[in-house]
Amino acid sequence: MKRFHVAYPTTADEAAGLLQTDAVIVGGGTLTVPALTRGELNTAHVVDLGRLGLDEIVPDGTVIRLGAMVSYQQLITSALVAERLPMPHRMASGITGGIQIRHQGTVGGSACAARPNSDVPAVLVAMRAEMLLRSPAGTRRVPVDEFFLGAERADLRRGEFLTEIAVPSTPPGWTTGYYKLKFAESSWPVVTAACVLPPAGSAEVTIGGVADVPLRITLPETNRTEHTVAERISAIPTERRWSDLRADARYRARVAGEIACRAVRQALAARGDQP
Ligand SMILES: Cc1cc2nc3c(=O)[nH]c(=O)nc-3n(C[C@H](O)[C@H](O)[C@H](O)COP(=O)(O)OP(=O)(O)OC[C@H]3O[C@@H](n4cnc5c(N)ncnc54)[C@H](O)[C@@H]3O)c2cc1C
Repeated sequence: MKRFHVAYPTTADEAAGLLQTDAVIVGGGTLTVPALTRGELNTAHVVDLGRLGLDEIVPDGTVIRLGAMVSYQQLITSALVAERLPMPHRMASGITGGIQIRHQGTVGGSACAARPNSDVPAVLVAMRAEMLLRSPAGTRRVPVDEFFLGAERADLRRGEFLTEIAVPSTPPGWTTGYYKLKFAESSWPVVTAACVLPPAGSAEVTIGGVADVPLRITLPETNRTEHTVAERISAIPTERRWSDLRADARYRARVAGEIACRAVRQALAARGDQP
């Protein structure tokens, strides 16, 4: 194993300064630590963000501010999240890997890893979150739609790290649904669907795992969800479709409509409508 130095900054300024090198950032470490120990990440510098206090969940008017190091378990146990961010709450309950991953894995780490079929990216896009990035130059705010640039590619510049994700709370009268296809209880998602349903006007569903970035789709009629989703997916250029060991792009495209319908039905049921 290659030797590397680990720094534990205690302030954001200190962290930003340390990231001017080729340092690897460690959040909860569930992806980075195994990669480091296997020698897959070639670096002499590691910056662990664990002592920055980025694990708070703070209400701020109509927004809930999630520190980048908020864990899945915090989303599950927070009454505030359950009440005002029901979709992220539901999403976190379905993360596999057991109690260790739910405690150790962070929302910010998953967002920065930008894996197309992970649970977090499509949920943040569905919720129209805003990403707060810190560097020695100050704070940069990036709408989540611009944050995901491609598969495993987020808009993080050299020396920058994610400090916070500002998520608009679900307004009264709005409902949400979240559904994912996975092949076994313990497996990662294949295709995910996150639905936001306003009291009037068009619902939206955001699909993860079919393209290199989450795909937000407006649904003029919820009873034509499958058709609308199929149409949008057929317009994705081949090079932007997502395949991995779990399923190829054709399979993902075929199942996405049904997964979207299930998320929409959940949101309709939460509103008290007969799906
Ligand atoms: C057994 C197991 C089961 C899993 N099951 C699921 C599942 O069901 N669904 C799912 O979606 N995911 C699943 N995951 C993935 C899990 O969600 C991620 O591993 C976790 O959320 C990543 O967060 P982390 O803080 O551990 O990231 P880390 O491993 O610390 O980092 C991941 C990446 O993000 C970067 N990074 C981390 N934090 C920041 C930051 N604040 N600013 C800038 N860059 C940062 C790191 O440099 C690295 O590139 C599973 C993982 C394991 C190991």
